[in-house]
Amino acid sequence: MSRPALQPDGAGAPDTNTTPLLDVHHLVKHYGGLTATDNLSLHVQPGEVHAIIGPNGAGKSTLINQLAGEVRPDQGQILFAGTDITHEPVDQRALRGLARSYQITSVFPEFSALHNVMLAVQAHQGHSFRFWAPARRDAVLHDPACRVLERVGLAHRLHVPAAALAHGEQRQLELAMVLAGQPRLLLLDEPMAGMSQAESVQMTELLERLKGDHAMILVEHDMDAVFALADRITVLVYGRALATGSAAAIRANPDVQAAYLGDAA
Ligand code: ADP
Repeated sequence: MSRPALQPDGAGAPDTNTTPLLDVHHLVKHYGGLTATDNLSLHVQPGEVHAIIGPNGAGKSTLINQLAGEVRPDQGQILFAGTDITHEPVDQRALRGLARSYQITSVFPEFSALHNVMLAVQAHQGHSFRFWAPARRDAVLHDPACRVLERVGLAHRLHVPAAALAHGEQRQLELAMVLAGQPRLLLLDEPMAGMSQAESVQMTELLERLKGDHAMILVEHDMDAVFALADRITVLVYGRALATGSAAAIRANPDVQAAYLGDAA
């Protein structure tokens, strides 16, 4: 397959003295003769929002799948808070605080928003409540669940069945269920997909509020959301990092404009 002669620009990332929360070294994933992830290195600092953008087929999902633990890399290393998690399964990564939204969340449509998040809190705490009095069980789950629902803006919808929530609210609920696990790094794979413009703006504002408390890797086609939220952006093309840098640097990068952004820049 012919490929454009583009040089990765990992040097665009700011240098800090902090240990990266996520540190990806020379990741490679082949599917037959196709290289979906091509010697990719990137890092995410605590509290940072790092967006991954690129055309369809660039390898964004393959990357997220490897970070989440669903797809095994052929080569390379993934460090989370300094620990090598390259070969760890999904659930162990989640316990460490590396969470992808839909993996954790199985929303029960007939249960209320509150009940769903209480179950997510329970799953995270790993308690068996069998021998506990219902009142005690409820206090331990209820209060954290209410706090999380308030954070995502659903405090006024606690008792509404999940199925009766609007589409955007259901995505807020999914996010609440992930946040119940107190993740340090959220993997967000197209959180605005299928949303109206208004819902997308609302989700952007919500993620903006969560920013800082949780680092995020954000794969998203909505460039307004990406440019509003991202501290840094990596542009993937053919599985390679074409460029990494601040939103301003990425917008101004002529290679990126040619390869991907076009009129959106
Ligand atoms: P993106 O998310 O950026 O659209 P993907 O990660 O889905 O890109 O895909 C990257 C490349 O890897 C594409 O060429 C795609 O066809 C290929 N690919 C992804 N998953 C598989 C798979 N399970 N088997 C074979 N090829 C795959």
